[in-house]
Amino acid sequence: MVWFSQSIPRHAFILWVALKKRLKTHDKLRFWEAHADLSCAFCQNGPDSHSHLFFECPFPNLVWNGLKVKLNLNGIPDIWADIIGMFQQVTKGKTLWSIIRRLVLAATVYHLWQERNNRIFKSKRRSHIAVGKTITDDVRSRLLSLSFKSSLNVDRARLVWNRP
Ligand SMILES: [Zn+2]
Repeated sequence: MVWFSQSIPRHAFILWVALKKRLKTHDKLRFWEAHADLSCAFCQNGPDSHSHLFFECPFPNLVWNGLKVKLNLNGIPDIWADIIGMFQQVTKGKTLWSIIRRLVLAATVYHLWQERNNRIFKSKRRSHIAVGKTITDDVRSRLLSLSFKSSLNVDRARLVWNRP
């Protein structure tokens, strides 16, 4: 699900770390690194964690929900474990949609983690629309480098993703 020939390596790496729950979220800090006022960079509502960032917290949730319409899949959950369970079922094989779903999940995790760190360490913040656009731009440019034989599904993806 993470490493495939069309994946974007820097995105795939962060997704791989997130799947292992090894991103250095607040709940993973050692006691001497943690301080009392640790709060989520998005909602300021307590320390963050993998399940909070992907995608229980309101801001990541907005970003994720804005992308669902671009995945050609009904009933996509918001809870990390459920998403992974579903994606393991629906991202098998080399169909264009399967590739798109994996690219979007990896890009979303990557850019939300970037946004979270920019907010914490650089005091830079972007809107959920801007973060969503960065994700779709990255996925779109990856798609532009792939070629697929025309079919109903491929044409639909082209329409949804504005591929020429
Ligand atoms: Zn939050």
